[in-house]
Amino acid sequence: MGFRDRGIEIKTPEQIDLMRVAGRLVGETLELLRQATGPGVTTLELDTLAETHIRDHGGIPSFKGYSHPPFPATICASVNDEVVHGIPGPRVLAEGDVISIDCGAIVEGWHGDAAITVPVGEVADDVRELLRVTEESLWRGMAAARLDGRVTDISHAIETYVRSQGRYGILEDYTGHGIGTEMHMPPNVPNYGRRGRGPSIVEGLALAVEPMVTLGSKHTELLEDEWTVATVDSSMSAHFEHTFTVTPQGAWVLTAVDGGRARLAELGVPFGGR
Ligand code: MG
Ligand code: MG
Repeated sequence: MGFRDRGIEIKTPEQIDLMRVAGRLVGETLELLRQATGPGVTTLELDTLAETHIRDHGGIPSFKGYSHPPFPATICASVNDEVVHGIPGPRVLAEGDVISIDCGAIVEGWHGDAAITVPVGEVADDVRELLRVTEESLWRGMAAARLDGRVTDISHAIETYVRSQGRYGILEDYTGHGIGTEMHMPPNVPNYGRRGRGPSIVEGLALAVEPMVTLGSKHTELLEDEWTVATVDSSMSAHFEHTFTVTPQGAWVLTAVDGGRARLAELGVPFGGR
């Protein structure tokens, strides 16, 4: 982004309330999928569960048919060295795998977008730690957002936390994004960089923040299916995402089932939800 604030959609409080409806549905869908994940389950079974749950609750899966070639499913299911955009299919999850499940839904024209990475049974200690570090970096990033701060305050907090925890790769080719009447909108939200740059964080801005972290290289390759993004060195990866906003009262994690209340309190950030 060379120019601040260009093309950024600012929502009214009423519109943010509608985004909360979409976000809560995405959060609840991911909790359902977390519980359904285990050895012997296929990624297509998880996808079917997600689509059914979203449609049964008045939502539309936002990934299905997205872009070119059209994404064919409701969730992105990315296993182990696959970081993001994996296509659900017959792959059977095995003990020791990790799966990033990314999910988006539209309710009354408003989008929610979130992702979790779930261990399948028992996973190696360094992989469990990778998941913890990546998820924590997401919360540290959101916690760094303040009205009248700047978007890269989030980026900087994510990178600073990850780097403080060890030698990890942080993807640079994929970023978080603005969200609202479309899934992907300006501004980009990188997962690294100096604070105090990019657009201002103002009331009505909604952002999807999504650190993608690996046990090895930050470099990725696109697989033959033209969607799946995998690490070039086959290292394990993790991806967590929430859609969130900042109100005059504090932060509001629109895709967290509790709005982020519990985790934000642990981080000393006021809860800004309604
Ligand atoms: Mg996503
Ligand atoms: Mg996203």
